[in-house]
Amino acid sequence: MSELPGPWYQGGLRFECTRCGNCCTGFSGTVTVNDAEITVLAARQEMDEAAFRERCTRVMSDGTVSLREKPNYDCIFWAREHGCLVYEDRPTQCRASFHTPSRLPAAVACSPLGVPVDLAA
Ligand code: SF4
Repeated sequence: MSELPGPWYQGGLRFECTRCGNCCTGFSGTVTVNDAEITVLAARQEMDEAAFRERCTRVMSDGTVSLREKPNYDCIFWAREHGCLVYEDRPTQCRASFHTPSRLPAAVACSPLGVPVDLAA
């Protein structure tokens, strides 16, 4: 009897971001930012770090810090007309967005991957 195939992502996910925004918009999530990333993003916004943390981040129940999202669940740095406003300085999570199971909904929506996925399988 042959073994059942593993999940479609078992070999890793390789993609090139096309800035489609599908993983930045439309559903609630966490975009983790560390202290070094906050320093860079705050400077880019010409804000002091305390003001940046207050205005652009939220502390999660486990103590990690996430970027805030808008009422429609778009990332606070996503602009429908322009895309990511901080793309060159985007957090590590945004650069490797699909490498954790919790981010699989984003992978489903990723146009470069374009993989039809049954998450219940
Ligand atoms: S920082 Fe940019 S790349 Fe990251 S989730 Fe927000 S809009 Fe998307």
